[in-house]
Amino acid sequence: MYEDIPAELRERVENVVLNRRPDAAEGLIEIAPKYAGKGEAAKGPDLAWRELPVNERIAHALVHGLDEFIEVDTEESRQQHARPIEVIEGPLMNGMNVVGDLFGAGKMFLPQVVKSARVMKKAVAHLVPFIEAEKNADTKPKGKILMATVKGDVHDIGKNIVGVVLACNNYEVIDLGVMVPAAKILEEAKKHNADVIGLSGLITPSLDEMAHVAKEMQREGFKAPLLIGGATTSRVHTAVKIAPNYEQPVVWVKDASRGVGVASSLLSDNLRAGFLAKHQAEYQEVRERHATKSAQTRMLTLAEARANKTKIDWSACTPPAPPKLGLSPLKNYPIEELVNYIDWSPFFITWELHGRYPAILKDEKIGKEATKLYNDAQAMLKRIIADRSLTAHGVIGLFPANSVNDDDIEVYVDESRTALRTTLHTLRQQDEKPPGRPNRALADFIAPKSSGRKDYIGAFTVGISGADELAKQFEAKHDDYNAILVKALADRLAEAFAERLHERVRREFWGYAKDENLNNDALIGEAYQGIRPAPGYPACPDHTEKGLLFKLIDAPKNAGVKLTESYAMWPAAAVSGFYFSHPDTQYFAVGKLGRDQVEDYARRKGLDLGVVERWLSPNLGYEPED
Ligand code: SAH
Repeated sequence: MYEDIPAELRERVENVVLNRRPDAAEGLIEIAPKYAGKGEAAKGPDLAWRELPVNERIAHALVHGLDEFIEVDTEESRQQHARPIEVIEGPLMNGMNVVGDLFGAGKMFLPQVVKSARVMKKAVAHLVPFIEAEKNADTKPKGKILMATVKGDVHDIGKNIVGVVLACNNYEVIDLGVMVPAAKILEEAKKHNADVIGLSGLITPSLDEMAHVAKEMQREGFKAPLLIGGATTSRVHTAVKIAPNYEQPVVWVKDASRGVGVASSLLSDNLRAGFLAKHQAEYQEVRERHATKSAQTRMLTLAEARANKTKIDWSACTPPAPPKLGLSPLKNYPIEELVNYIDWSPFFITWELHGRYPAILKDEKIGKEATKLYNDAQAMLKRIIADRSLTAHGVIGLFPANSVNDDDIEVYVDESRTALRTTLHTLRQQDEKPPGRPNRALADFIAPKSSGRKDYIGAFTVGISGADELAKQFEAKHDDYNAILVKALADRLAEAFAERLHERVRREFWGYAKDENLNNDALIGEAYQGIRPAPGYPACPDHTEKGLLFKLIDAPKNAGVKLTESYAMWPAAAVSGFYFSHPDTQYFAVGKLGRDQVEDYARRKGLDLGVVERWLSPNLGYEPED
């Protein structure tokens, strides 16, 4: 922290760096001995700040995220104030303002802010009994923000981080948790008289649910602005699909660091008008650009797209046969084995530290904070392994399969291929491709029944249970930092589990790559044969196929993972997908679909067109009829 460099030292160093005076070097040399021999390693924690006056100690603890003395200091400060609330409004808020300013200026990073919030929460927790004893004490937060992960969705790491950052900026945050139906959001917003409502979600069905909440807010005449956030949300989706449903401001918030800026603009008498004028002009432009783009994309008919499917010469290839067909449940998988398979880069992204692991640990700007976070993560992993607070269950299944009618995949009971376990349905790219490029569907990678080749497909689900329970223990101790850390690590372990199992499938269970020997970087880089596409992702955007997958391998029983009504997996730290073995397989994006394909798909799945259109809504290349 620049401000923490002693003034004298800072001044003399600046003189040298900025070449401010002819004797700058002498000046620096003169004081150098005072600072010699104070290497990080040599000294223990620097406790000089304990000598400061109490309110400065509180500010120091907040800015540096040090919670060791905060209760003692808060108590001391309380005794110096007439009312306990003054400690919050005075020293605590002042300290958090410094944190907010430094974060806003890019001089502090998210993990630090979350640690500061932990200190704040512990201080507030100490004061609450005194405030309650005093009665009718009125705090004045900057505004009330109600937040929820929408119905059907279970992901809350992002929401929790935004909540922490808002709370440290003196907003009162009312967090309704996950899987919250629209009616409940509206009811609670009215009850608390919320100034702003924030919706979060990760999976694509949540996009539709958010549009629904916006409609309901309009219907009930709400006035509060609506904030939208989460991995699959976007400016375009918010502008095109959500904002038109609600007359009040609807604003997409890209990440936690923007939340405060948006909230303060919306709730400030001075800033609101200017912010909204700019916002509305911007979203109008987004809508217009989107409309022009949609009008211009030419789409093939489904028949044309099928005629241009991926070309694979099945007469020249014999798909590899697994030595054992059927299910292999893997209960209580050793977590220590998974640790080496963790892909750390997304872990840092969760904390808004952007950069590739391991280089990020040495990054000039964020390396120090990234390293601290990494060390905390390692310590937490050790603890989790030692106390078995998290458990890993998984299941894989390998089955005889053939594609039929271009786009469907029949999964058979046994090698006789007479009885069906299920039929999977895939979607085909319908945009016009440049010459030589196919219109792909996942079914292209499974040998057609008509080829006479015996092919196979795999399916898997893995889940890490226990993260919510462990996170709750930390939350109870006002420790959001470790609560978020646990959930982020559980996500990492689930991905690592999927990576490890896929490797074992290739080498053992399916055994088509027995000699494969890749390091973790190569695994993360997908340098292997085959793919594990996940329903809901771009190659298979229909989440409802996850229902078939779960039934096929009885994932609830074998992996302890369930589906919500939006096909989100619960526990949230879970991964599922299909295994394809063909060397030509690759990930792709299905993209926009024509009405002809959606009608055909609805027929194949035996569902009403309207139902299918709702699930595929992010992929529709046309306006569905109501
Ligand atoms: N190493 C990453 C792995 C997850 S992302 C991590 O730890 O987070 C890669 C996974 O996303 C793939 O294995 C696949 O399951 C899914 N995926 C990526 N692109 C996809 C696509 N276009 N269609 C379907 N699934 C996809």
